Amino acid sequence: MDGPLPKAIFYILTFSSIAIMIWQIVGQSRFWMKGKKITWKPNYIGSVLTYVVAQRKVMGSRPKSGAPLHLLIFYGFLSLMIATTLLAISTYGPIIGIPGFHKGNYYLAYEATFDALGLLYIAGIVWALNRRYRLAREQGQPIPDPNTGQLNRSKNPITTTWQDFAVLYLLLILGISGYVLEAARISADPKPWDHYSFVGYAIAQLFPSLSPQGYISIWWQHMVWVWCFFAFLPQMRIKHIIFATLTAAGNQEQPMGKLPPVPASRLESGESIGAAVAQDYSRWHLLSLDACMSCGRCTEVCPAYNSGKILNPKQIVQDTHRALRTGDGIPASVSEEALWACTTCNACVEACPVLIRHVDLIVDARRNLVSEGQLTGTATLPLKQITGTGSAWGQSAPEREQWMTGLNIPLARENQGFEYLFWVGCAGATDPAAIRTTKAFAQLMQKAGVSFACLGQEESCTGDPARRIGDEATFQSQTEINAAAFKKYGVTKVVTACPHCLNTLKNEYPEFDLEDLQVVHHTELLAQLVSQDKLKAANPQNGAITYHDPCYLARVNNISDDPRKLVGQKASLDSSLPLLLRELSTEESHARVLAEPEHHGKKTLCCGAGGGRMWMEEEPDQRPGNRRAEELIATGAKTVAVACPFCRIMLDASIKQVSDEAINIVDLAEVLHEANS
Ligand code: SF4
Ligand code: SF4
Repeated sequence: MDGPLPKAIFYILTFSSIAIMIWQIVGQSRFWMKGKKITWKPNYIGSVLTYVVAQRKVMGSRPKSGAPLHLLIFYGFLSLMIATTLLAISTYGPIIGIPGFHKGNYYLAYEATFDALGLLYIAGIVWALNRRYRLAREQGQPIPDPNTGQLNRSKNPITTTWQDFAVLYLLLILGISGYVLEAARISADPKPWDHYSFVGYAIAQLFPSLSPQGYISIWWQHMVWVWCFFAFLPQMRIKHIIFATLTAAGNQEQPMGKLPPVPASRLESGESIGAAVAQDYSRWHLLSLDACMSCGRCTEVCPAYNSGKILNPKQIVQDTHRALRTGDGIPASVSEEALWACTTCNACVEACPVLIRHVDLIVDARRNLVSEGQLTGTATLPLKQITGTGSAWGQSAPEREQWMTGLNIPLARENQGFEYLFWVGCAGATDPAAIRTTKAFAQLMQKAGVSFACLGQEESCTGDPARRIGDEATFQSQTEINAAAFKKYGVTKVVTACPHCLNTLKNEYPEFDLEDLQVVHHTELLAQLVSQDKLKAANPQNGAITYHDPCYLARVNNISDDPRKLVGQKASLDSSLPLLLRELSTEESHARVLAEPEHHGKKTLCCGAGGGRMWMEEEPDQRPGNRRAEELIATGAKTVAVACPFCRIMLDASIKQVSDEAINIVDLAEVLHEANS
């Protein structure tokens, strides 16, 4: 490119296309700035390295198709950006005193390496195009589950539009025209070392001895695509390379099970709480909505969607985004029925590659509905029972001690100086099956010499169902009651057999002046007692027992190894390795004491009880637990072990719904109790 005019045109168009891109991003940022100021301190570099450079969330979903092709495109694209940046530094560096370095062996290695990486980039795009055509054909059809091959009950949630094809073709053209440009240079101005650029060199053989004008015309054509890419980037699905990077940079690593706090002063003011307009969300939450790339991973894994309900988490994100941008507000734009269908299982949050926290959005919208008096029907039942009796099941306080009869269970009011407070929970003290868990666990602690006590009639519901339904006032009054009891008895360690109580006490109670509370699940304490030889692990016949990972234990609180240790299974599911690598490296090395269902560990399927759904009306054939029940039965095991009283109740109903087989449901504490009797 010689002469002042072509140079001027080149610089004007390059800077203009970049300016158009930046102008659009700045325009978007006005929307984020409507939100509440972020109070946390993000780990900017660590988050970008983890979620963008290392692609941790991408590796955790669609391990057999979407993840590998995305990795090819992402790393291929990144390598082309690095190659272009190095070329630019070497070309323009001398202006500011940096000597040109594109020469010698470095240059030969540069040419060969980036030619090879460019091929991976093109392979990824061709794979993505092929997949996109298949998805377009399947749109609206039931699709096989990516892991089990079973047909989902709901339709394929991945929608394909012409923009999806347009962006892929643009990326493909950028890659191919880059190679053609390299080939044109080789053809017009051959050098002895050109064969190191092996792809461009091969293409150059198709048009030998290109004229300098021919080379210049190909160069301009390549630049037209580059300018289009910059100018349209914020409008295309690929915009997530910018917005997801910003979302990752501003991310706060906080427990998955912790909902956004509501200041007590806000409750006392009597103003409406929750979220209805952009000003009700944090700036980070608004930014994260812009990062959504419509991939549909969240909807694919949603148990409510897959059981035929109206809830579609991708739709929730997009409707929320539109409602907040236009100012229409959530009540007018987001389906109430969909909001109430959520079990808060966090499968969508786990699956989302751009860190969107759907459960925060849903519960904040529920909070607003509740504070506006829009809660009716069976969802009000647990709230009335909690405020009336302190139990989500409506049991009176003295009834909480009935299960203790004949077991010599120490009570905090009679026996201070204990190490662990055994938090029994409403279900553990009420439901006949859950009481079997409670008794088995208490007896195991007695056998192992654990110092513990229960609150008995002084225990009151943690408020978990109220908080997830959106009734923050009831939740916060429960925290006051329980925090007072903890302080009265100097409680510092809590053990519970209920993952919902565990999550609330561990992740949410610290906000209420209980920062030092240590909370463990009963399977964690039991695994510790087994490792200390105070109890022995069960030794079931291989494949006789299957285990259902509760969402609030395995996914939300990352506890999936300790429950398995209780039956002597050594495999690690809690590994910090990304799922894709874990699947490739350890799938077959799991010690198969348990008959593992297809979905286990963090990818477990929801039983349908969370988020207050336990108390809400449900058509029997739309229970999310039915699909889980089918999967557990398909393992061939005749015993299903659980580690959550909610899961136990829901799976019991679902197993009876989908099968006539006699399947025994037990808690792992009962399995261990039998082994130690
Ligand atoms: S939390 Fe679970 S039920 Fe709710 S939208 Fe996400 S995947 Fe669906
Ligand atoms: S919310 Fe996340 S998982 Fe769902 S469509 Fe958007 S980017 Fe994909």
